[in-house]
Amino acid sequence: MEDKLYEIYKEMGFSKNVCDFAFDIEKGLKERFDEIDKIAEYNQMKVLKAMQDNKLSDAHFGVATGYGYTDIGRDKLEDIYASVFKAEAALVRPQITCGTHALSIALAGNLRPGDELLSPVGKPYDTLESVIGIRNEKGSLAEYGVTYRQVDLLEDDGFDYEGIKNAINSKTKLVTIQRSKGYATRKTFSVSEIGELIAFVKNIKPDVICMVDNCYGEFVEIIEPTEVGADMCVGSLIKNPGGGLAPIGGYIVGTKECVENAAFRLTCPGLGKEVGASLGINQTLIQGLFLSPTVTAGAVKGAIFAANMYERIGFKVVPNSKESRHDIIQSIVFENEKAVIEFCKGIQAAAPVDSFVVPEPWDMPGYDSDVIMAAGAFIQGSSIELSADAPIKPPYAVYFQGGITWYHAKIGIMKSLQYLVNAQIIDENLEKTI
Ligand SMILES: *Cc1c(COP(=O)(O)O)cnc(C)c1O
Repeated sequence: MEDKLYEIYKEMGFSKNVCDFAFDIEKGLKERFDEIDKIAEYNQMKVLKAMQDNKLSDAHFGVATGYGYTDIGRDKLEDIYASVFKAEAALVRPQITCGTHALSIALAGNLRPGDELLSPVGKPYDTLESVIGIRNEKGSLAEYGVTYRQVDLLEDDGFDYEGIKNAINSKTKLVTIQRSKGYATRKTFSVSEIGELIAFVKNIKPDVICMVDNCYGEFVEIIEPTEVGADMCVGSLIKNPGGGLAPIGGYIVGTKECVENAAFRLTCPGLGKEVGASLGINQTLIQGLFLSPTVTAGAVKGAIFAANMYERIGFKVVPNSKESRHDIIQSIVFENEKAVIEFCKGIQAAAPVDSFVVPEPWDMPGYDSDVIMAAGAFIQGSSIELSADAPIKPPYAVYFQGGITWYHAKIGIMKSLQYLVNAQIIDENLEKTI
């Protein structure tokens, strides 16, 4: 079998050295991958049990249109999400266009003029700056009289408990905690760390709403933030929980009241969750959730594989080769523009869709430098599928994530390495030349 593998990798443009190197790295990861498989097994059971407990049936896969008053499949999907996340209620809709939109309605639905929003974990994800009004924007929370306060992390990425205590005041209504580092340089928080932070906040002000931006974190661990005190957990269906199948959507899970408030914002006051037909995509969303534990495990393996490979070659990787994982994002610091571009070209060349396209840096709106992106996905913009992007500026770091099967993640990362070898940034003996 080994021979056959070498043969097909060769046909796909890989050199023997790159294959040997990659296979050797993989061998060294057996124990870690076993651990990830166990997490996937647990989460698979959790999702399956939620489907059985909620008596999912073929009847829920029908097509509902119009107001969607009798959309039993949509209601079932939401019951299943609530069970998986051990939450009272869920809002899971194709009408939620992306993760930012889900976070926006969770915030706007639960905050009122005069309230204050607090981020105790530093600056939130870029797109939320407009939502909150950190960056001036029409219709932002700031325009509606919601103030914002932020407490940065300590030097070692720990929570600044003293600062958080001082920041909480009579106006503080909602605390937003971003689990994944996203495209920042801080670490990603574990669910248990988030639990400690929530406990600390609630100890000071018990009625404050704690919301977690759960993007990229779902199913990486066996518990979710709603199990450690979060009142709301929010994410995108074209990341982990859609399992690569969901064509669109976002979710909010949490207390009945918080979810209802968000639903009143998504549709309108009074109608809330009652309206919004799912237009025949329930089966896809439910099946995607069913696949999500294994899909997420594949993406986590890919991230660890890449970290180990590029760290051995001598590049800085975040998280490093040994660290425990709480999301699916990997960054590699190349300190070199050409390396970043070749890496992205390799990822693109490994894609099932648009593999023949060559990505180039461009002046994307909203960014302060050129950006290069590699994605050849079945679902446009899906970042649970193998994808990479990098701002063309020092330290020339590339962020990549996804791979809806482990094998595809592996081939993609091997392809990135092959491109770096072909461009002589890494030599035939897999040593850096830069
Ligand atoms: C992806 C992401 C979001 C939302 O992004 P969308 O592109 O709008 O789906 C928010 N926060 C974090 C940490 C993310 O990774």
